[in-house]
Amino acid sequence: MNVLEVKQLEKIYIGKVNHTALNSVTFDIQQGDFVGIMGPSGSGKTTLLNCISTIDMPTGGELKVNGQSPHKLNDEELAEFRRRELGFVFQDFNLVDTLTIKENILLPMTLDSVPLPEMVNRLEKITNLLGIEHLLDKRTFEISGGQAQRAAIARAIIHQPSLLLADEPTGNLDTKSAKDVMKLFTSVNETLQTTILMVTHDPYVASFCNRIIFIKDGKLHNEIHRGDDRGNFYQSIIDTLSFLGGERGDI
Ligand code: ADP
Ligand code: MG
Repeated sequence: MNVLEVKQLEKIYIGKVNHTALNSVTFDIQQGDFVGIMGPSGSGKTTLLNCISTIDMPTGGELKVNGQSPHKLNDEELAEFRRRELGFVFQDFNLVDTLTIKENILLPMTLDSVPLPEMVNRLEKITNLLGIEHLLDKRTFEISGGQAQRAAIARAIIHQPSLLLADEPTGNLDTKSAKDVMKLFTSVNETLQTTILMVTHDPYVASFCNRIIFIKDGKLHNEIHRGDDRGNFYQSIIDTLSFLGGERGDI
């Protein structure tokens, strides 16, 4: 089953000079897939993710999440759609400082009036999976960046979204924490079958995905699949990036 269907998606930013940020982008993502989006700076990665997350509005084409076209919903339906179907992980974690970690994680379900026993049940399952039981009563200033990102992942998946979207989720982490966070993404993907779409500029981080879609100048360039050998995959990612002219570390 396709969780995401993107058909001839187009985004033109209107200004003194119009700029085509996405030019007829077409791809599907199947349930349970773990997909990376890569490409040089300015190629349209964030624009693509923002159109899928409904933060931004495409100017053409079609986009469906779980068979629904979010951009055709009214405001109320859209708010519910985002709450139920999508999970977000950001570079800067976006946790609420005045809440405990537990309150932060429960926030999406609180907003959606999920019954308490169900919340407790899911909280336990997710915190076990992510190894953050000991952080639940702490506040954001008491934990490290890596721990904050784990809490943010818990918050993003606790309502069992159809699609987890992440824009540079390791962008603010050191190498060790980045690796830990990617291992968690992998176990969330494998254990809960959560479908993940992640933008990253880091070839090592990307090598945790099953499939990478490369874009350049707003167009789909090519895609590669991991197969069994992560070492080969990593090398193919680096080769493709250098072919595309994207510098390493260039977001
Ligand atoms: P990436 O995330 O791959 O670096 P972006 O999606 O942020 O690329 O941007 C793609 C292109 O669209 C860039 O040329 C950028 O300058 C342009 N762009 C992005 N956002 C806007 C905007 N709000 N208005 C006009 N142009 C934009
Ligand atoms: Mg970007």
